[in-house]
Amino acid sequence: MNKPQAASMYESAKKIYPREIGGRFDRLSKIATTTLLGLFYIIPWLQWDERQAVLFDLPARKFYLIGLTLWPQDFPYLALLLIIAALSLFFFTALAGRLWCGFACPQTVWTEAFIWMEQFTEGTRSQRMKLDKAPWSLTKFRKKASKQFLWITFSMWTGFTFVGYFTDIRQLGLDILSFSVGGWTLFWGLFYGFATYGNAGYMREQVCKYMCPYARFQSAMFDKDTLIISYDERRGEPRGGRKRSVDPKEAGLGDCIDCQLCVQVCPTGIDIREGLQYECIACAACIDACDSIMDKMNYPRGLVRYTTEHSVQNEATHVLRPRMFVYATLLLILCGALVTSMTMRTPVILDVIRDRNSLYRELPDDIIENIYTLKVINQSNAARDFVLSVTGLEGISIDGVGEPLSVDGGGVLSLPVRVRADRENAFGISNIEFVVTAKDDESVFVVEDSRFLGPTP
Ligand code: SF4
Ligand code: SF4
Repeated sequence: MNKPQAASMYESAKKIYPREIGGRFDRLSKIATTTLLGLFYIIPWLQWDERQAVLFDLPARKFYLIGLTLWPQDFPYLALLLIIAALSLFFFTALAGRLWCGFACPQTVWTEAFIWMEQFTEGTRSQRMKLDKAPWSLTKFRKKASKQFLWITFSMWTGFTFVGYFTDIRQLGLDILSFSVGGWTLFWGLFYGFATYGNAGYMREQVCKYMCPYARFQSAMFDKDTLIISYDERRGEPRGGRKRSVDPKEAGLGDCIDCQLCVQVCPTGIDIREGLQYECIACAACIDACDSIMDKMNYPRGLVRYTTEHSVQNEATHVLRPRMFVYATLLLILCGALVTSMTMRTPVILDVIRDRNSLYRELPDDIIENIYTLKVINQSNAARDFVLSVTGLEGISIDGVGEPLSVDGGGVLSLPVRVRADRENAFGISNIEFVVTAKDDESVFVVEDSRFLGPTP
């Protein structure tokens, strides 16, 4: 007796050959892709004040953002910035649907660039399909090798650029040319390059469908007033082929001629006529495709269009709705908090570390001495002179620091200091304050508390 065979639950992904289509949204997508990729590849080469304008210098724990230098102490600003970015994404998703996915997501943008290279080397959709089915020949090898050459070069350049955001890109270029790149730098460059090659070259829509967490939870931000791309079923059905000269009403047909063009251009391989699907990245290619058909048939455009669920059901759409107010108010508050805190940020930081080896020293003439190490961090980009003082005890003074402290722009000065006070004023534990003030601007100062220890009374 034949044993029953277990049915496989696995279905391998079918390769999608998106058809090229022109149109208004295609132009928009090309502008977005070239602008965003251009920015990514150009930014690390820009200079500001004789240094890289944007550099996330992890070993030095400093982030340079044009004229701004962020230190580990500035982490709250970075956290706030990330919260604002996430909230903006929520706001725009609730308002305009998956605008981010369709036009600005790195996966979309790089996939688009890889498809351009594929079209350049292997031709149109039908030529690519034919080429893949054809047996290996010199022509097939030449086309496939050219594509791989472009893809790999572009991926390696992407990996190099990515690492260039974390280390001096000019020096990195010289290191590569002289074969003296560090192990980790090489690893991250190759890793990012390989990830770009795999995700944009082969994984493509599968990243959006199976790997992207945003695709999963964004439907929670959708409501019936969110902008979506939708097929107008009332107008399009019943679908069916017909000649251009045939009046669809007389033939009992809707406006959809069932040409499948909207399916062929879809980068995720779905049929928009089956309704809103989570695989749809809102790239609007199906709008361009369908509009071109409507033009040819002399039908009004918009059978597939940007709309809302309410609008499709002939109900009024509300742009201003409670969730939009909540997102907008939160965004305004957070942006206001970020701008205010950045403007009020003091560009100097002081760290005070008490010498743990000795509680205090008794000097001749009834003087008590405590030792500290001060770290003065100049967060501005130019060198600055600072004046150091100490308060909190009568007659307290700093020994041996008479001159202003000069600290380079973005530099740290580590300074051992001896603080002295008369014995009669220094019994027990006293709270004192170190004050560092910029010599050129008294409004720039920082105060740090510490303790001064003396003998027990
Ligand atoms: S259904 Fe249309 S908008 Fe959605 S991914 Fe496919 S082509 Fe793009
Ligand atoms: S492109 Fe337009 S007409 Fe053609 S199948 Fe799609 S919806 Fe119908």
